[in-house]
Amino acid sequence: MTIPERELPISYQPDVVVLGGGAAGVAAAIAASRNGASTLLIEQRGYLGGMGTAALVPAFCPYTDGEKPVVRGIGLDLMETMKLASGDEFLSMYKDRLDWVPIDVEVLKRVYDDAVLESGAHVLFHTLADQVLMDEGHIQGIVISNKTGRSVVQAKLYIDATGDADIAAMAGVAFDKGGNEAELQPGTMCFLVCGADKDRYDRFLAETGQKSSLIETIQEAMRNGDLPDGRKRISGTAWISKSVVGFNFGHIFGIDGTNTEDLSRAAIEGRRLIERQLRFLHKYVPGFEQAHLVHSGDQIGIRETRRIVGDYKLVVEDFINARTFEDDIARNSYFIDIHLANAQSTMIVKHLDPGESHGIPYRCMLPVGVENLIVPGRSVSSDRPVQGSVRVMPNCFAMGQAAGTAAAMIAVDTALQSRLGFRQVDIPDLQQRLIEQGAYLGDRSKIGNGKERIGESKEIVFEEETS
Ligand SMILES: Cc1cc2nc3c(=O)[nH]c(=O)nc-3n(C[C@H](O)[C@H](O)[C@H](O)COP(=O)(O)OP(=O)(O)OC[C@H]3O[C@@H](n4cnc5c(N)ncnc54)[C@H](O)[C@@H]3O)c2cc1C
Repeated sequence: MTIPERELPISYQPDVVVLGGGAAGVAAAIAASRNGASTLLIEQRGYLGGMGTAALVPAFCPYTDGEKPVVRGIGLDLMETMKLASGDEFLSMYKDRLDWVPIDVEVLKRVYDDAVLESGAHVLFHTLADQVLMDEGHIQGIVISNKTGRSVVQAKLYIDATGDADIAAMAGVAFDKGGNEAELQPGTMCFLVCGADKDRYDRFLAETGQKSSLIETIQEAMRNGDLPDGRKRISGTAWISKSVVGFNFGHIFGIDGTNTEDLSRAAIEGRRLIERQLRFLHKYVPGFEQAHLVHSGDQIGIRETRRIVGDYKLVVEDFINARTFEDDIARNSYFIDIHLANAQSTMIVKHLDPGESHGIPYRCMLPVGVENLIVPGRSVSSDRPVQGSVRVMPNCFAMGQAAGTAAAMIAVDTALQSRLGFRQVDIPDLQQRLIEQGAYLGDRSKIGNGKERIGESKEIVFEEETS
């Protein structure tokens, strides 16, 4: 149907609007606002955090390369603030840890609220960005829908932090999705239980010589028909206290996170699967006899959807060779972590050596064909293997910080005229600003000097924790 033309009010005119309040969007809004831009952060839910809160992803992936933190700045500060706010028991377990720190979800929501508001950014919840108004390669405005009605947000610069590159797609940006057969990583309905007994569980692991991935126990339950076929391990458990633990366990296959029918089916199948998994925990895993389900994700966790076509595509050779680029705005050392696309296939995991990382160039966030839009987060321009690595939250924070800082530098630069665009930023100035504000960009003398050892990276099939 053709919808009748209609006039809409302009509701906000900030310098910078950030669409989506996940890890990338939170960091982008804080960075833009701290650097002097009037900033509006729009989020469809009633809280911030994206997959880390809405989908109950139970832990932050490593911030370190095994030797030192490679993600610093806003992302590291937010995790440290969450630790401090989570109480003594949490601190006693995780004070000095930087890798796989569990997410205390209700605390994290408040930490994000406070950090964004303290930066001076304005937050608009319960609002969906649903239309992009274009004018010759520039976004003129974004139509938002909420209880107040429909209206237009007109900003100088737009940051698409929707995780799915919704804004870029609506702006006509080309994108890739999934593998050669259009296969996508599966979704996971994460969940939180209380009433567990960590000491008893730890004794069980010690006695049976198992790690928390519980491979033997899960295989036994699968043989007995008590768990469905699929990945024969738990991806991650995250103890918030001695009795409350979050799970990243099992998969729902064939879900495209940009298709609402799929998301609906995944929500239903995900909750069904959790019921079975809880029965499995009660029956097979000492320490979980009294465990009670308190929360499942508001939506299925989505690992992979669109990858924008950007000015540079980060590819697996860049990862393996730990390349450094002229325009790096972040470093990544997380392994390539591609979950099986169906119950019969296997995981693909590739590691860099400890102490190694590769650069993430600014150009990966610039969508071809649109000037005043930048796309940080899990849909940056990359091939599929690299998306399986850069997608994790520490990297999304780092990209978000860079995107927000760049936006503010451009928006407040009075020498620049109207029709602003992200390609106008001075890269060395941006890098200098990021480093001054706590980000880590590695050893800049290594630009262009990768290790050139294609094919030598380790493949490890059974990781203790994956995302
Ligand atoms: C099951 C699972 C386990 C994982 N495990 C880990 C892990 O252990 N550690 C780790 O660090 N990472 C993990 N990840 C990866 C990580 O959680 C995500 O890749 C990361 O959160 C992506 O961040 P983002 O900011 O790009 O997007 P998201 O976190 O997806 O945030 C996007 C935000 O935008 C909002 N939004 C979307 N569209 C619109 C719109 N049109 N209008 C308004 N708002 C919109 C969404 O509501 C959401 O809040 C996991 C992911 C999954 C699915």
